[in-house]
Amino acid sequence: MFEHLEKYAGDPIFRLGDEFHQDPRERKVNLTVGLYYDDAGRIPLLRSVQQAEARLGGELRPRPYLPIEGLPAYRSAVQELVFGAGSEAVRAGRVATIQSVGGTGALKVGADFLHAAYPDSHIWISDPGWDNHHAIFQGAGIATHTYAYYDSQGQSLRFERMLEDLRALPRHSFVLLHPCCHNPTGADLSREQWQALIPVLAAGELIPFMDMAYQGFGRGLDEDAGPVRAMADAGLTFLAANSFSKNLSFYAERCGGLSVVCGSADEAERVQGQLKAIVRRIYSNPPMHGGQVTALVMSDPELRALWEDEVAEMRARIAAVRRQAREQLEARLPGYDAGYLTEQQGMFSYTGLSAAQLHALRAEHGVYIIDSGRISVPGLNTRNIDYFTEAMAAVLR
Ligand code: PMP
Repeated sequence: MFEHLEKYAGDPIFRLGDEFHQDPRERKVNLTVGLYYDDAGRIPLLRSVQQAEARLGGELRPRPYLPIEGLPAYRSAVQELVFGAGSEAVRAGRVATIQSVGGTGALKVGADFLHAAYPDSHIWISDPGWDNHHAIFQGAGIATHTYAYYDSQGQSLRFERMLEDLRALPRHSFVLLHPCCHNPTGADLSREQWQALIPVLAAGELIPFMDMAYQGFGRGLDEDAGPVRAMADAGLTFLAANSFSKNLSFYAERCGGLSVVCGSADEAERVQGQLKAIVRRIYSNPPMHGGQVTALVMSDPELRALWEDEVAEMRARIAAVRRQAREQLEARLPGYDAGYLTEQQGMFSYTGLSAAQLHALRAEHGVYIIDSGRISVPGLNTRNIDYFTEAMAAVLR
């Protein structure tokens, strides 16, 4: 019955990660998947999470269904983290928020919601972008297109072209934007550029979808959410997805949030109901354990302070690795400008390496980088950074 189906090629990023693990060489470096590793090459179990789990008393709890929209304390924590403690939109009841199954779940529920509200609208995604954005929105029946974002040869944003592209869109088009730590380029709009972009979105009556998977990994928890808050302050109606996968090192717990900023409390109530209806028919309600831990870490002052320190630690390590890699590369290759490493922020950097160079890195040096040339910076550490920069220099020479 299903013989006509094509074989799933697998996710190209996970596939390359598998290849890395099968590579028998001792000297190898995995810069593929977007996971934060500490300097010892481990995925951290945050102390704030450990303490919250200890307080919650392990596994000896009954497991009723959570509400369709998730835990109230979790949803409040999402609103506070994304929109800020003093948010006018939140206080006015203009924000509908659900606990989602990771950032991906937020995108899926948001995509279904948008398609139901505006069945004829399409979405525009940055070029280059995250492949799964296309897959998720297409899966929800929304056609995807791209707007100019980054010139990988010139290692610079194409902001004027981006504005031009967005100015040309039909009203009620959806626009996918990354408030911070753009995946895959690591290149973000400046505060001034956001201020220039927001009126373009408003004038075109476009519907932005802000996807914030790396809050806290750029400049700070509040700073990284700045574009979301600026958009709320400007009175725009938009969606915002956030994820705890990276900043709580909580990948497998699938904790995220979807918020829709509306024009009024009444509209937000109707939107909240529609989000619940969508959740009900996809997975009915979110899982409990991760939700409770997240809500506790976010709302308990002591755990929250500890968590913020831990996020700062991860952010500082990424920045230090970026500086070190840049210095080493520039020392090894006189005349080579590795400034992109420190100008870009968050987990990813776009190296601009060619397909041949990427292949040589993999084949000759065991350095695994995905085909776009994007590196996941936290894959570098004290033990492999010299080796990595030497290998990079070898293929760039
Ligand atoms: N959006 C972007 C841009 C991402 O990079 C990711 C994670 N790779 C996600 C969303 C999904 O996050 P999660 O793992 O929480 O589903």
